[in-house]
Amino acid sequence: MKTGFDDDYNSLNKKDELNNQINELQSTKQKTVLENAKTKKNLSQEFIYPTEIITLPSKGLVYPEDHPLRSGQIEIKQMTTKEEEILSSPNLVQKGIAIDKLLQELIVTEFDFGDLLLGDKNAIMLAARILAYGKDYETRVTCPVCNENQVEIFDLLMFDEKEVEESQLNSKNEYEFILPSGINIKFKLLTQRDERQIEDELRFYKQLQAKSKVKDAVQKDLSIRLKSVIIEVNDNRDKNYIKSFAEKMSSRDSLALRKRIKELNPGIDLTYAFECISCGTQSLINVPITVHFFWPDARV
Ligand SMILES: [Zn+2]
Repeated sequence: MKTGFDDDYNSLNKKDELNNQINELQSTKQKTVLENAKTKKNLSQEFIYPTEIITLPSKGLVYPEDHPLRSGQIEIKQMTTKEEEILSSPNLVQKGIAIDKLLQELIVTEFDFGDLLLGDKNAIMLAARILAYGKDYETRVTCPVCNENQVEIFDLLMFDEKEVEESQLNSKNEYEFILPSGINIKFKLLTQRDERQIEDELRFYKQLQAKSKVKDAVQKDLSIRLKSVIIEVNDNRDKNYIKSFAEKMSSRDSLALRKRIKELNPGIDLTYAFECISCGTQSLINVPITVHFFWPDARV
């Protein structure tokens, strides 16, 4: 194409021709810009990762009426390099919060992560794992009878929601229960926020115990959990009252309460019939969620 900087530059006709050429050039340029913009738009659209709608095991029934999770569904996006980097951050892994951080990144639906029921969280974790790395999960399992361990490959699509008394779930997430001893209590199903508090408290006790060399970690674990679950005892909601009640609770009461929670608590049923190749025993175990769940390439 002529640039116009030739000898005939000043001729009127040529000038007209030049103008035409310039106009043409400009319109082509504009077109190119437009086309570029279009391509860019297409490209950025390609980079919007597909999302997936997950049905929560709770069906949203334990959340307040106006809560974003009340619909019983949650939207998550597929894992990308950014999220994989969270998993590879040694700092986060050490703190044991890498998976929480990962889930927070993957969840598209906006709400306070602490509100999430633990059973719902497990369902999201499972879906995110299958989306990112597929259904096959290979990890080591320890036989509860002989303590030998062996490599197992689980098909994660095999695990379904637990059957719970859905009609009993309510938006206040508060449930009445009469203990075998006759004491009236109200309890709740634990959320992510509760679990964090429990873990913080357990860490605190373990540090104390390490210093004083007292070995009652198992006992503390149970009473701390019970204290978090119970929200009212004989119409009393005082935290200290509940704490001392939980610590003195009889095994019979505690067992009955845990059984009741199991009947109500929605989630994924991760039980699995495990057959030990060492001792030949079959046992019903819970699929261990180990480092290989989100780090499938880690050494088994
Ligand atoms: Zn065994």
